[in-house]
Amino acid sequence: MGDELTVLNPATEEVVATVPAADAHDVDRAVVRAVAAQRAWAAAAPADRARLLRRFADTVDAHLDELALLEVREAGHLLGNARWEAGNARDLLLYAAGGAERLLGAQIPVPGGWDVTFHEPLGVVGVIAPWNFPMPIAAWGSFPALAAGNAVVLKPAETTPLTALRLAELALEAGLPEHLFQVLPGHGAVTGRALTDHPDIAKIVFTGSTRTGREVMARAARHIKPVTLELGGKSPNIVFADADLAAAVDPFSFLDNSGQDCCARTRILVQQTVLDEVRDLLADALAAVVVGDPADDKTQMGPLISRQQLHRVRALVPDDAPGLRGGAPDGPGFWFPPTVLTAERADSPAAREEIFGPVAVLLPFTDEQDAIRLANDTPYGLAGSLWTRDLGRALRVSRAVRAGNLSVNSHSSVRYWTPFGGFKQSGVGRELGPDALTAFTETKNVFISTEGPAL
Ligand code: NDP
Repeated sequence: MGDELTVLNPATEEVVATVPAADAHDVDRAVVRAVAAQRAWAAAAPADRARLLRRFADTVDAHLDELALLEVREAGHLLGNARWEAGNARDLLLYAAGGAERLLGAQIPVPGGWDVTFHEPLGVVGVIAPWNFPMPIAAWGSFPALAAGNAVVLKPAETTPLTALRLAELALEAGLPEHLFQVLPGHGAVTGRALTDHPDIAKIVFTGSTRTGREVMARAARHIKPVTLELGGKSPNIVFADADLAAAVDPFSFLDNSGQDCCARTRILVQQTVLDEVRDLLADALAAVVVGDPADDKTQMGPLISRQQLHRVRALVPDDAPGLRGGAPDGPGFWFPPTVLTAERADSPAAREEIFGPVAVLLPFTDEQDAIRLANDTPYGLAGSLWTRDLGRALRVSRAVRAGNLSVNSHSSVRYWTPFGGFKQSGVGRELGPDALTAFTETKNVFISTEGPAL
């Protein structure tokens, strides 16, 4: 066992809990147990796996408020959002349970015999989760993997291990087999690396920064271990002059979760002819944002996750950078005001790097081609919005922007029924959606000769 993790409430800096950190030896023990649990789980009838996962969903449902409050305390999320997140984990369990019963193979017509394909579970899946959405992201990586017949060892972020630990307890309460879904809090450089390097971990699902994702991919490559990577973003919000401007520049498109959202629309690209109007709308909207106690229903934006994150944001957004700003409380807590930078160049660090704070940059464009050029001028490609009343333009631009999750006249990105993931340096592979379970399987093809010796 390694040292202890101290979990702080980011709104108050009070200690919420201390949790032992797992070391490489703990990872190894967990994997050995997971291998044994997975064999029995994979051998169970899909309907039995589905039944247990539905019972797990019911157990999560019965503890929805408790899980939401835990997310408020360890991650500083607004209570309403945290309730949605716990509900998302429950709903994904139900969706995945249905998938367990419909993980169908195929029968392919071939000469000289019968040909059948099967989706077989990978074995033990390692999930490395970040702190920005601890509960949903733990669920997205883990629940479809379980439904497909795998075991899961999950490492939550060191700042936010509590909801994941509680989910693992609820899984046991619901009757899931012991050691099938294990949560090992710990440091990325120790626990995360040990999971990635372990020869009996069949796949790694990682969500976090592109920098760490690159390391995870390189380490996994030593074992030719598949990875799903959900990484950073610098998503465009493309606003054409004919759009519903007030809806288009809704500041919560980049302030949600205090901007600690890989899909945050942090580059507001606005057609030059309406730039002044948009600037005025944003100034009024930022001034009205209620920042404070995340447990208060009237609050619209909470704190950043940690002092380290606050320093990161301050380094990219100095106090004297020209821009529009709302208010924020003084300490204790990790507060940064809602901000739109108005004088950045498209190639400045603030316009190119993922800030992961409540900050967007405002950049003008001239016409459709210029908007597409600017939208694609980034190493990232996770999400984006475009706002126009011209259907032809909406169709053309949504095909031309290189990103995995686009919305037209909307800022929505995540639904558990639809695939989620990024182009370019925003990641590899997809989570959620109809293929969520097959991503945790190997496809096996069996050919049975009808012309060989009698069977
Ligand atoms: P990381 O990518 O470093 O952390 C994400 C997860 O990976 C955490 O569980 C972390 O553990 C773990 N980890 C860290 N190092 C390793 C490693 N070498 N091998 C395996 N796992 C590892 O992000 P940070 O928390 O450092 O945040 C930095 C920046 O990353 C943010 O400012 C933001 O820009 C971006 N980010 C993006 C996210 C997204 O959803 N796209 C999510 C989180 C961050 P531990 O908690 O112990 O460090």
